[in-house]
Amino acid sequence: MAIETKPEILSLTEAELTELLVADGHKKFRAQQVFQWLHLKQVFDPAKMTNLKPEFHDYLRARFTLPEFKILNETRSPSDQTAKYLFEFGNRQVESVWLPYENRQSICISVQSGCSLDCSFCATGKIAFKGNLTAGQILSQVYGMQQLYDRRISNVVFMGMGEPFYNYDNAIRAASLIADQHGMNISRRRITLSTSGVLPGIKRFIEEKQPYRLALSLHAVFADKRRQIMDIEEKFSFEEVLEYLLQKRNDLQQGQLMFEYIMIDGVNIFPDDAKELARWAKLLKAKVNLIPMNTSFNGMHRPSDDKIIEFWQALVSRGIVAVNRKSPAKDIDGACGMLAGRQENTLKV
Ligand code: SF4
Repeated sequence: MAIETKPEILSLTEAELTELLVADGHKKFRAQQVFQWLHLKQVFDPAKMTNLKPEFHDYLRARFTLPEFKILNETRSPSDQTAKYLFEFGNRQVESVWLPYENRQSICISVQSGCSLDCSFCATGKIAFKGNLTAGQILSQVYGMQQLYDRRISNVVFMGMGEPFYNYDNAIRAASLIADQHGMNISRRRITLSTSGVLPGIKRFIEEKQPYRLALSLHAVFADKRRQIMDIEEKFSFEEVLEYLLQKRNDLQQGQLMFEYIMIDGVNIFPDDAKELARWAKLLKAKVNLIPMNTSFNGMHRPSDDKIIEFWQALVSRGIVAVNRKSPAKDIDGACGMLAGRQENTLKV
């Protein structure tokens, strides 16, 4: 006999919630109230939804799976205001990062527990892959962190553990709920999905005219080098991805596409790399986000400051908008490529 699973309330859109509540004989406005408690006020316990009657609290508990997560660990940076959180959803753990900047409040969230890919510079790729998160679990990281701070989150990047386009439906659903005007109402242009280059996902994203920003983790612009550091290159070559984006460049909004480029000493920061990266960035009108490797990992090292500046200048002198992103959160292992969880996560075998 099939086990009936209850719908996960946090993953539902307001329209879906309305449909279910109305079908159960409740008034439409109840769905609006519940949606706002969940997504605007981030209150998950029905007993605290003060404009609803106790019988309705019981109905919600019986009818839906309510958000349930624990924050197992918090690591605050001693040198800046960044903080890293270890969330637990059942037997799955993921990490998320709070990244305050002067003019914005960003967070970096995970879409999978572990990652099925294995980029050689990334700690997440080395731990066991436990699976996709639901949209509600992706959102729980946003709401869980927002509950801890008065400062309002303004930017969300899907760049923590996992590949968003291998969990496409849940990632897009979570993005649309974050942007919902009856919820946190975060501007769609301030929500970024980062992909290692999963071509079917990129195609779908563009065909569906998704309004979010798309960050392509390029990290190398020669196939042999990219293959050396990113296993995705075996499946979807970056040239195929970039050629596709070139064909579709008129379908992208201005500033929607950016390249992420991790700088690894002796690997991908030679003059030829800068020249080729600049060529593609110009063709696709993409901003380049340069991320110096945070530390030494897996035999790879951070370049010297001189080399970082030289590479950045080689792009800027070719007219490319290149941001040399400092690595916030690096002293808490919360920077790009450093999320590996701390408890229960076993290594890949
Ligand atoms: S960099 Fe991203 S895609 Fe690559 S292993 Fe890490 S989490 Fe996965």
